[in-house]
Amino acid sequence: MKVVTAIGEMRSCSRGWKSAGRKIAFVPTMGFLHQGHLSLIRAARKAGDVLVVSIFVNPSQFGPSEDLEAYPRDLDRDLEFCREERVDAVFAPPEEEIYPEGFSTWVEETELSRGLCGAARPGHFRGVATVVLKLFNIVSPDLAFFGRKDYQQFKVIEKMVRDLDLPVEVVGLPTVREADGLAMSSRNKNLSVGERRQALCLRRALLRAREMVSEGETRAAAVRQEMEGMIGREPDARIDYLEFADPETLKPRENLRPGDLAAGAVFIDTVRLIDNLLL
Ligand code: AMP
Repeated sequence: MKVVTAIGEMRSCSRGWKSAGRKIAFVPTMGFLHQGHLSLIRAARKAGDVLVVSIFVNPSQFGPSEDLEAYPRDLDRDLEFCREERVDAVFAPPEEEIYPEGFSTWVEETELSRGLCGAARPGHFRGVATVVLKLFNIVSPDLAFFGRKDYQQFKVIEKMVRDLDLPVEVVGLPTVREADGLAMSSRNKNLSVGERRQALCLRRALLRAREMVSEGETRAAAVRQEMEGMIGREPDARIDYLEFADPETLKPRENLRPGDLAAGAVFIDTVRLIDNLLL
């Protein structure tokens, strides 16, 4: 397995693979890998001839008061995981390789990014779209794999690829969960035992929302109120947002129907967790 830190070297690997007619599958990550990442890596391993995983905690998608410093990192452990999964190359550039001094060009998707996490984290998807476009330009993948746990991110990337005619096929895969249903996330590591127990409140509230809609409830306000009540019972939980949206346009919905997106973000003390489901 190659561990590549320079853009030039990554590009020349990709150029070599391409000219040999090999299909490149790519999984971009911020590291601290878990089973959610591994499900993408395994799907990519099967789908492509060569598999590239990037590990880069992208500073431009974190707001000034967010958890960039506290974001968990363990490159050696990640490399071990990648070796076991027969990854061909890990691209793990230093920050200055991706954002050299004077960097001033940004990619912004302006519709799907507006609500949900986009509203709660101004500039977040601009950072995501910019780094993903850069990674695509560096790695030249034929296929790129994303998790639906970050549903809005997946839709924004899909849209960017369509709007900018990028020659890559974007694949979205289901959310991988812990045995009790908590969505796997690198940030779960920062939860204390008591917080870990409370962290399940968002998943429970989303499941309750689905149940209410399946029983005929259509009023978003009523469903949201019930969810707020459930989450409000946890002492360290604070709702960032709970929203219902069209699963394609991500426009907010007030009248719910089965198949709509329900998504939320909840802080458990200082740890921000997200989850979503289709009602
Ligand atoms: P991250 O390292 O958190 O930026 O995530 C890298 C990729 O893994 C993104 O496409 C995420 O959507 C995906 N991912 C993260 N957690 C999960 C999960 N629990 N299930 C499926 N995919 C996930």
